[in-house]
Amino acid sequence: MSAPPFDFLHDLLKAPSPSGYEQPVQRVVRAFAGQFAERVTTDWHGNVLAGVNCAGSPRIMLAGHCDQIGLQVKHIDDRGYLWVDAIGGWDVQMLVGQNMVIWGQGGPVPGVIARKAIHLLTQEDRKKVPEIKDLWIDMGCRNREEAQKLVAIGDPVTFELGFRALQNNLAAAPGMDNKVGAWVVLRALQLVAEGSPKAAVYAVSTVQEEIGLRGAQTSAFAIDPQLGIAVDVTHATDCPTLDVKQFGEINMGQGPVVYRGPNVNPVVRERLVGLAKEHEIPIQTGALPRAASNDANVLQTTRGGVATAIVAIPNRYMHSPVEVISLTDLENAAQLIARFCLAVDADSDFTPA
Ligand SMILES: [Zn+2]
Repeated sequence: MSAPPFDFLHDLLKAPSPSGYEQPVQRVVRAFAGQFAERVTTDWHGNVLAGVNCAGSPRIMLAGHCDQIGLQVKHIDDRGYLWVDAIGGWDVQMLVGQNMVIWGQGGPVPGVIARKAIHLLTQEDRKKVPEIKDLWIDMGCRNREEAQKLVAIGDPVTFELGFRALQNNLAAAPGMDNKVGAWVVLRALQLVAEGSPKAAVYAVSTVQEEIGLRGAQTSAFAIDPQLGIAVDVTHATDCPTLDVKQFGEINMGQGPVVYRGPNVNPVVRERLVGLAKEHEIPIQTGALPRAASNDANVLQTTRGGVATAIVAIPNRYMHSPVEVISLTDLENAAQLIARFCLAVDADSDFTPA
């Protein structure tokens, strides 16, 4: 069995992918999938679909959204400062004091976001949480003309991208949500390609999840799968201030979370739990009493209904510049999903009974 391709994860994390601007990260996905997939296509929405054993039955779709939250340049003022709007859901406090990158046509441009120095803030200012309309990006330009040579209205912006290893095989980076999901589904497909699948298995690096699960909707319609697994991050609760009574107990490094609830087909879930036990893959159980706020939602309700599961990666500090995940959880998630895909054949029945 091949070693976990963590260099592929590093490449994903270094490539920008605000929703609607996923092309750089999709290039990385195509290059990786092209090494083992039978077919790699990019639809006109921007999803990358990689298939193995495409003539097999049934069809399984693995969805990991590759987009990350970002900003978009709305206005360049006379002094060369950039004013922005949000792509996806932001806690604006996360932006103050950050190194940013504007992904201009001519290449990446460094910038910073800050605010008035503490000495100049009034007592009242200090208590206020800034809004996105109050923040600007400073590229060091002297005026609008200089700024316009580097960036244009509509350019996407991210935190400075990268990867930092922490203790115990944990790592921090912006955009772990959900480049880790894209990594898991492609890694699972790689493992499936190393085996003898009966099912057709498609790993999709979906676009625009952060603005409404849009890429999963279009790609699931195209693939028309009978089975689907969405891989996304979920909130780990093993850090201060999170109440396990409210959010459940989810720990980093103790395995992917296999969810229960209405957005999950119980037979698929049982099969995943059984395979995890059989192959000694650690998993955790999460409870989700509603439609998921990720690709699983649209995957399940595609066409005549898809037997869907949610395999989630525990994550601390979601939608921040320091989203933390466990590399061990990633490989375990991929192993489990690959085992599932390899065990499904044309006689498999996932009717909830
Ligand atoms: Zn996500």
